[in-house]
Amino acid sequence: MGPVHIIGGGLAGSEAAWQAAGLGVNVALHEMRPVRLTDAHRTGRLAELVCSNSLRSDDWENNAVGLLHEEMRRSGSLIMAAADASKVPAGGALAVDRESFSETVGARIVAHPRIVVVREEIAVPLPGWTNTIIATGPLTSAALAETIRGITGVESLAFFDAIAPIVERDSIDMDKAWMQSRYDKQGPGGGTADYINCPMNCEEYRGFVAALLAGEKTEFHEWERSTPYFEGCLPIEVMASRGADTLRFGPMKPVGLRNPLTGARPYAVVQLRQDNSLGTLWNMVGFQTKLKHGEQLRIFRTIPGLANARFPRLGGIHRNTFLNAPRLLDCELRLKANPCWRFAGQITGVEGYVESAAIGLLAGRFAAAEARGETAVAPPQVTALGALLAHITANADAKMFQPMNVNYGLFPALSGPERGRDKKKALAHRALSALDAWLGDRAAAE
Ligand SMILES: Cc1cc2nc3c(=O)[nH]c(=O)nc-3n(C[C@H](O)[C@H](O)[C@H](O)COP(=O)(O)OP(=O)(O)OC[C@H]3O[C@@H](n4cnc5c(N)ncnc54)[C@H](O)[C@@H]3O)c2cc1C
Repeated sequence: MGPVHIIGGGLAGSEAAWQAAGLGVNVALHEMRPVRLTDAHRTGRLAELVCSNSLRSDDWENNAVGLLHEEMRRSGSLIMAAADASKVPAGGALAVDRESFSETVGARIVAHPRIVVVREEIAVPLPGWTNTIIATGPLTSAALAETIRGITGVESLAFFDAIAPIVERDSIDMDKAWMQSRYDKQGPGGGTADYINCPMNCEEYRGFVAALLAGEKTEFHEWERSTPYFEGCLPIEVMASRGADTLRFGPMKPVGLRNPLTGARPYAVVQLRQDNSLGTLWNMVGFQTKLKHGEQLRIFRTIPGLANARFPRLGGIHRNTFLNAPRLLDCELRLKANPCWRFAGQITGVEGYVESAAIGLLAGRFAAAEARGETAVAPPQVTALGALLAHITANADAKMFQPMNVNYGLFPALSGPERGRDKKKALAHRALSALDAWLGDRAAAE
């Protein structure tokens, strides 16, 4: 049984190495730091946290990322064990002493008898590496990114995300919004009412444009400015700054639409398009933005129909190397065009420390199953691990794929009538029973 080669010793690569080694498989973990640093990392430590020291909410009954924490703990996660051992006070959040956290991960990896850490940049995985995990993150080195692009095609590996906010479908006020496609044009699925439309009159539109222009924005990092993003991904507020009517002739154009409440064409419109096959998540078309998160909530909730909107993802634009995973990866995270390569972490189109480590956990387990000649079994979709995996490999729309955090909109609906907190609790309990059964089956199979 040959080793699993893992490229990248960040959150995902370290977790993948730990999981695979824990299942009895030898691992070679190739990390380029400190020989070569990225623009954001500062040390040679494994699993370095490049920005915040928070792994977000730890409340498994009321928060989707808290549930993911709990599922990872039950799955023997190294990242969660190191986080628990390095915890600092942060209310309901799990925040860590970043040095102690990375030191703990590194020490446990280096002490593991089945893991060898090699400090080198990999530009091209060697042909004999038939079971490789690429976990090189949002700042994958240029040479490896070029190799990946050579196989996936230029369109399938992005260097910037252009994230439009996402709204939970059941939080949209459909007494104000309505469903219609422009000119009632039939879409590929046969429907003529594929979009949710939120109308604005002249006064609302002018006020909205003024709010976009005045809203506080985040800046690009100095090093992000050297990689240009495309004119097609301009932030909404930049478009607004080009003229009072630019948005009304761009993403907010009202042509081909009639508001059933007034019988007339609105002055401007915000359109939302279905974002996942479950139909629970809808993205605001053309609304990628550098507005600060608080400003997005304040301004976007002034849109008619979105006063009570829940946003599982807010907008953003960052330097971020990621694949069009729903198009390129199979259900075990292998590249369809070259199944010797599996991907893990942020490069698969998940967003955040925890989600990246979670996909590393799954990739490590899948790679170990392959090395042992066993059939890998994915966690059920009702778990947070399974929901995240299913989103990036199957449920997300490949035509407009952008990175995603874990959120309740990724889970299959409950059969009961629960709402609000009761709904979150029911989803969490359903997830953990399914996860325990899955882990039990995996343990019995070993
Ligand atoms: C500037 C910035 C700030 C961020 N802030 C946050 C935040 O506050 N909270 C949050 O949750 N997420 C944040 N993120 C996202 C965060 O990077 C990811 O959530 C997480 O670190 C991704 O984990 P990963 O394992 O996929 O990648 P990483 O943790 O980045 O690990 C990838 C590893 O691969 C190595 N590598 C790259 N190319 C090669 C190569 N060719 N050969 C060998 N090794 C290679 C890198 O050195 C790195 O160690 C931020 C990202 C950036 C870029």
